[in-house]
Formats: sequence, structure tokens, C-alpha cells
Amino acid sequence: METTGDGTGRTGAGPQPLAPDTSRLDGRSARAWTEPMTVRATGEGRYDVENGAGRTYRVDLPDGDCTCPDHRIRGERCKHLRRVAIEVTRGRIPAPGQVRGTCRGCGREGFVPEGGPDYCRGCRLESGDLATDRETGDAVLVVRVTADRADAVAVDGTGRPVADYETNAGYPRDDPVVEVVYPFDGGEPLADRRRYSFPHSRLAPRDAAIVDPGLGEV
Ligand SMILES: [Zn+2]
Ligand SMILES: [Zn+2]
Repeated sequence: METTGDGTGRTGAGPQPLAPDTSRLDGRSARAWTEPMTVRATGEGRYDVENGAGRTYRVDLPDGDCTCPDHRIRGERCKHLRRVAIEVTRGRIPAPGQVRGTCRGCGREGFVPEGGPDYCRGCRLESGDLATDRETGDAVLVVRVTADRADAVAVDGTGRPVADYETNAGYPRDDPVVEVVYPFDGGEPLADRRRYSFPHSRLAPRDAAIVDPGLGEV
């Protein structure tokens, strides 16, 4: 893309239209932007695209497939495929692997992983993330995010579910359990440290993530 002007990335021409200058696009791209279509995500990377005439085609975005004649017969990257890609890029519909949902962490409506847990990108914890224990302020390192509920997992050697601990009373009992270690105290290798189980919502993600190769596959 051509860069001009003051270096801020803006052209200085004031507000810009939503669609690109379609006169500079090829026909299929222009139609993808301008024709009335209704796109609905149906899961697993598939989308129903209804055109202005009420006809519905099915797009498989990861496979780059569409059921319309333009794609099936002529083998073109049709306007339906392009429209789905545009709407995903603009955040209007979920990307493959995501669904619309309410984030359990921040309560905002948005996109969450298709197979759960229901956390937005900003609230979701993954192995290798640093997080803050909201109860104590301690830094912890996420070793594993499990699919198990806090009221169904017993803390090692106690028989007592994670959710039953007093300090976890303020967090949903059906939260997924997250296993962590304390990375900043003691000299043991991280992989040898004792793991602790927390309800996901008790841990606030931090910006910085550290990845320790010593943890390996967990
Ligand atoms: Zn098509
Ligand atoms: Zn969130």
C-alpha cells in the first residue's frame, strides 16, 4: 500500500468510506463489498450466505469452498467467499473456531472459542501466561487450563473440591480449573514445582507472558 502524508497512516482527506473504492476492484471483489448479502455463521468454519434473491449458499472458509456455481463450476474465488472473509476481518461475524458469546471474565458480548471455555481474547488464559491471583496479588504462571469444573476437581490429597475453598467462594463454581505454579519464589525448576488449582476467574491475565521451555508438554 502506498504511504503518503504525515506518517500517521492517515491520508489527511478526512473521514473515509466503509467500502474501498470499488471502481478499482475486480468485479467479484466489488460485488462482495456492495451486494446485499446476509451472512450467518453455522460453526466449524462454515457460513450460510443469503443473497438478495433469497438464495442461500454455504461457504466453508478454512477449505475455501462455496456451493455456488461460480465456485463449483468455474472454480473462482466467488463473491460469497470474499464477503465472508471481509465480514470476519471486520469483526462482524465470528472467525472459524469462534462463536458469539458472553465472556465469563469481563461479561462482555463478543467472540469466544467454539469449544469453550467462554473467555474473550483479553480474559482467556493459556499455558505459559502470567496471571495475578485476585485474592492475594501474587504472580502465578499458568501451566495448564483444564476442561474440568472447579466444583468437580478435588485439591490433591484433600478430597475437597477447588470451588469449596473459602477464598474461591466469590468465583463461579463451574469455572474451569487452571493449574499454576509460583514462578518467582524458590530455585526449583518450574516443572518440579508444586501445582495449585484455581478457578479461572480468580486469575487476572497479565500483559507479559513468559514461556519456559523446561515446562515442556504438560
Ligand atoms: Zn459462492
Ligand atoms: Zn473478557
